[in-house]
Order: sequence, then C-alpha cells, then structure tokens
Amino acid sequence: MLTQAPRGTRDVLPAESYRWQYLEDKMRRAAALAGYREVRTPVFEHTELFLRGVGDTTDIVQKEMYTFKDKADRSITLKPEGTAGAARSFLESNLYADALPCKMYYLNAPIFRYEAPQSGRLREHHQFGCECFGAKEATADAELILLAFHLLRDLGISNLSVNINSIGCPKCRPLYHQRLKSYLADRFDGLCDTCKERFDRNPLRALDCKEKQCQALTKDAPSMLDMLCDECREHFEQLQTCLRGAGIPFAVNPRIVRGLDYYTKTVFELITRTKDGNLTVCGGGRYDHLVEQLGGPDLPAVGFGMGLERVLMLLDAEGVSIPEPGWYDVFVTYMGENRQHAFELVQSLRRAGLRADMDHCGRSLKAQFKYANKTGAPWTATIGDDEAASGAARLKQMSTGEERTVLWSEAADVIRGLTRDETVPEGK
Ligand code: ATP
Ligand code: MG
Repeated sequence: MLTQAPRGTRDVLPAESYRWQYLEDKMRRAAALAGYREVRTPVFEHTELFLRGVGDTTDIVQKEMYTFKDKADRSITLKPEGTAGAARSFLESNLYADALPCKMYYLNAPIFRYEAPQSGRLREHHQFGCECFGAKEATADAELILLAFHLLRDLGISNLSVNINSIGCPKCRPLYHQRLKSYLADRFDGLCDTCKERFDRNPLRALDCKEKQCQALTKDAPSMLDMLCDECREHFEQLQTCLRGAGIPFAVNPRIVRGLDYYTKTVFELITRTKDGNLTVCGGGRYDHLVEQLGGPDLPAVGFGMGLERVLMLLDAEGVSIPEPGWYDVFVTYMGENRQHAFELVQSLRRAGLRADMDHCGRSLKAQFKYANKTGAPWTATIGDDEAASGAARLKQMSTGEERTVLWSEAADVIRGLTRDETVPEGK
C-alpha cells in the first residue's frame, strides 16, 4: 500500500515529464493564438457547484464524484470537470462586467472521477480546456473546434475525425425528449442496464451508449436534428459553413450527445480510431444557460475539454516522437582532491546558463565518467591537479572523443561552440 499509488492514478516520472511539457507548450501557444488567457481555479469546490452546474442527472454527479466533508462539515468535491469551476470564477469576479467575450483556458487541470480504470480511463486525469463566455455566434463554436483540431493535427495525430451535432435548446429539446422516450419505452427491455437506469433522467445518453445492443436498438431512433427550432437550426448551419470554409473534414453525427446536462445547441467530439476501437480525445459544446443556472446573468458560452493522457497515448500509438531535451549540457568530473574546484566550476557553468552537474556520491573518476555517460551529457569537463593549478579544465566532447584544455572562464562559450579557437594551448 505504502509504495503503491491509488488505483486509477499515474505518476509522471522525471524521465517522461518533458513529454508533458512539450504538450503543454503547444497547448498554451494554440490557446494564445486564439486570444485565450489562462485561468487557474482550485482543485476542489463546494459540492453544490457541481450539483447545479454539471447537473444531478448525469453519470458524473450520480456515481463518479470524489465528495467528502471537510473539518467544518462542508461538502467538498474534487473537480470532476473544468467548466463549472471556470464559470464560478467568472461569476465570482464579475468578469461579465468587462468587455465580452471572456476567453479563458486551463491547462493540466487535475480532474477526478470514480470510474472503472482501463486503458485511457483514469480516476485522476488532466485536461486542457478552453471556455468562451459571452459569445453567442457559431463562429465561437467553430473557432474552438478548429483550435482543438489544428492543435492535435499539428502534434502529429493524423487519424482524427470531427463529429458535430446540435442537441437543441430548452425551446425545442423537451418535445424531442418525449419522442425519444416513447421510442425507447417501446424497446425498453432491449436496453443495457445503465440505459434502463438513466432512462427517466437522461434518455439522450442511450444514443451514445457504447453497448452493441443499445447501438443497434437506437439505429432508427428519432433525430434531434429533425426537430431543431429555427434559431438552433440556423446556428448549426452557420457552424457548418464556418467549418467548411476552414476546410477541415467533419461529420454531422446525431449520436454525439455528451454526458453533461448543461449543453445546448452545439456538441462536438474529436475522435480517433485506435486498435482498441474509437477514443474520444476532446469533447465540448455550447452551454448557454449554465452561467444563469449558477446565479449569474443570462449569458451564452461555449467550450471544450481535452485529456492530456489521451493525447500522449495517441502520440505513442501513432509513433510520433517528442524531442527529448537531454539531461545535462556538461558533466564535471574531478580527480583526487579537486571536489571543491569541480563544485565551483559547476556553479559557474550554471550561472552561464548551461545545465551542469557533478558527482555527489563519492564515486571514483572512472565511475564518474560512467555516470556522465549514463546521463547522456554531450560534454565532460575534468579537473585534475594540473588543470586546477592553472584555472582550467579538460573538456571532452563525448560524441567524438575530442579533447582540449580550456580556462574555466571560457568553458561555457567553448561548449556552446562559440569560441572554439580560444582554447588554452596544451601544457600551459
Ligand atoms: P468518455 O466518453 O471517454 O467517457 P467524457 O465524455 O466523459 O469522455 P469529458 O467529460 O468531455 O469526457 O472530458 C473531456 C476529455 O477528457 C475527454 O475527451 C477525454 O480526453 C478526457 N477524459 C475524460 N474522462 C477521462 C478519464 N477517466 N481518464 C482519462 N481521460 C479522460
Ligand atoms: Mg466519461
């Protein structure tokens, strides 16, 4: 127990964190290009926020939340998604009083859901998400889909499909709900247990159920798209015009309904095909009533969430290699009593902006070189008694074996390859 992380969680070890940093950097850039600025909200919120925000008919709220009482008997929940917290911060700080839209993104936000752990499904995962508050036009929906699509494609994920749908609004959806319910009621016995259980509270979910029996049974189910009100239909058409104009491939898929209650009009998912089946890497949509539902003004909004673990998984699956920055630029080794000199050279190299280190474990010179090799340092700088006496070090380029003696003051420049001629002559 003591040395085992809780089920469904994963460490990011030092040797692999560069992959996350690479991804984070690309995500920040993609968000900034579209005018999204970062928001950071707490890992936990009052449970009430999610009951009202995410909706108490959802699987997340019903079954998956990490909820507990704090020492003052408040009900607290670890974030099961990113949007509600972002909306809460938007309201609490009256950001709606500023010029709208207010565009924000969160990066690497830990998300907690008590799910059955399996490939691509964790109990703690991390999301990159973008939220745009105060924009009602479909151009806002389209720019988010494009942001996510271009980000993933530029990362090297080739086999991506963009699925969009409209699930209507409070004007047109209730009638559709009724139709769908009566369609499903006639076939109730054929539904899987989960769909039976959520039939009353959330019948739409039967449309995106992964069970074969439900997929077959809902094949001819009525489609929301046939029942959209004029406003929703126009909005959906405008979205498609934008996507077509941008030249990205997309499909209208009436089965995309999303698992959260707050969605209206646009919903979308970016899906990839893996050897284990389809994997949703990004999901989002419009939530025009969430802000009001949380006690704020009547304000439209749209956003998405993208799982970082899943993006990394796909990069692996597609064989995309992420440039590894290496550990050190130079490793300082020393002979005999020159540990203090080595320490000083390391500090001076670091101050010159090089990633430098030395042995801290009392190794012999031979073992120091072996260790330096293991770290992959492209250079070593060795200090023996002669070098120490003249304020120099013996530089070795590991790839070629080429050696030269340089003054400490010049070592950093030589390593950078800037002043290759200014080496100290042998024996000086
Ligand atoms: P799924 O259909 O896979 O359950 P979801 O609809 O529950 O996904 P969202 O709530 O929209 O997912 O979350 C956005 C993204 O976060 C997903 O597209 C996915 O990349 C990632 N994600 C969601 N749940 C998990 C999880 N349990 N483990 C890892 N990543 C996840
Ligand atoms: Mg889910």
